[in-house]
Amino acid sequence: MSTTLQPVPFPQWGLGLERPMLIAGPCSAESRAQVLATADGILREAPQVNVFRAGIWKPRTRPGGFEGIGEAALPWLAEVKQRTGLHTMTEVATPDHVEAALKAGVDMLWIGARTTPNPFSVQAIADALAGVDIPVFVKNPVNPDLPLWMGALERFHAAGIRRLAAVHRGFHWFGASPYRNRPMWELPVRLKAACPALELIGDPSHIAGDRTLLGSVAQQALDLNFSGLMIEVHHAPAEARSDAAQQITPKELAALLGNLSFRRSSAAPHLRDELQEHRDLIDRLDEEILQKLAARMEIAERIGAFKQAHNIAILQPERWRRIMQAQHALGRALGLAPAFVQAVMDAVHDESIRKQTAVWERARASQPHPPQGSPAAVNDADNRTS
Ligand code: PEP
Ligand code: MN
Repeated sequence: MSTTLQPVPFPQWGLGLERPMLIAGPCSAESRAQVLATADGILREAPQVNVFRAGIWKPRTRPGGFEGIGEAALPWLAEVKQRTGLHTMTEVATPDHVEAALKAGVDMLWIGARTTPNPFSVQAIADALAGVDIPVFVKNPVNPDLPLWMGALERFHAAGIRRLAAVHRGFHWFGASPYRNRPMWELPVRLKAACPALELIGDPSHIAGDRTLLGSVAQQALDLNFSGLMIEVHHAPAEARSDAAQQITPKELAALLGNLSFRRSSAAPHLRDELQEHRDLIDRLDEEILQKLAARMEIAERIGAFKQAHNIAILQPERWRRIMQAQHALGRALGLAPAFVQAVMDAVHDESIRKQTAVWERARASQPHPPQGSPAAVNDADNRTS
């Protein structure tokens, strides 16, 4: 799993489209009648939807499933656009798909979770889009790899695509989970932190995999300031040829949207002062936390020098076990989640070890040829990795 990311300075990223951006439509376009019945239903029941989605080329894990209607379904999307005024959107996975979708006047494209992780495919699609001004929505890769997700976005950016959005559809992960794909919310949050202008769209359908969980996942995305949602809608979900368990009817979509609380992306003017007071407190505490961490590391260095002078190994598992016991007890008393306490203390411990190791290395560098058999020669790597 790869979850760290440096900030990328692309201020012009962003959709420039309405917010909240609501995308709805079937997993797959199956027939003209199904596409039109679903689009008409969406327009009638949930007129706040801005974009109609439908997969035309369906990447299936194993051959033999419904692989989509292909190009023959493109005119149906054009018909949807003409009769409902909705923007249209489909998935592209090859330059041929791009060419056909553009020719048919599709308004927006998405890159599927099985395409995003393949830089060759992404580059080929990006090349096919060079010079075309069309919004591109990049789904996260199936595996929780943040640089891969960002890499795909960067390839489109380099091809001149400026209206870019990232779609969070959850990650394949082993182990029990109520979700088809685990949300791992920290990943889209980190992507947004690295690239603040980039818009995030939540795809609760593919995260949940089950229509009963859609509401809570959708709400969580909105609470995290996502710019919109993509939700799979079918006029008769039970008959759907793909993703039947997660699709909902247009009526159910209207109920779902009606129950969601859409958040402001920033505070209204009369609330700003109060919010600012809280933020000032947070800023001060963050400052104190860093100052305390710096003080802690200074002492770790002193301990490192002491251990080095007396030939004592850096890693002392028993001491660390006692620290963690005490910190977990304190964390519990303060109402902090054990996983959070663990993550913070692991980071502190890693840095302490790094600092102390640096003391040893400096000492070795200043004494290039320690006499054979001396304590300095004996204590080396074995001790540090024990
Ligand atoms: C889809 O949107 O229907 C789809 C195939 O999604 P994903 O690529 O996220 O699995
Ligand atoms: Mn689907």
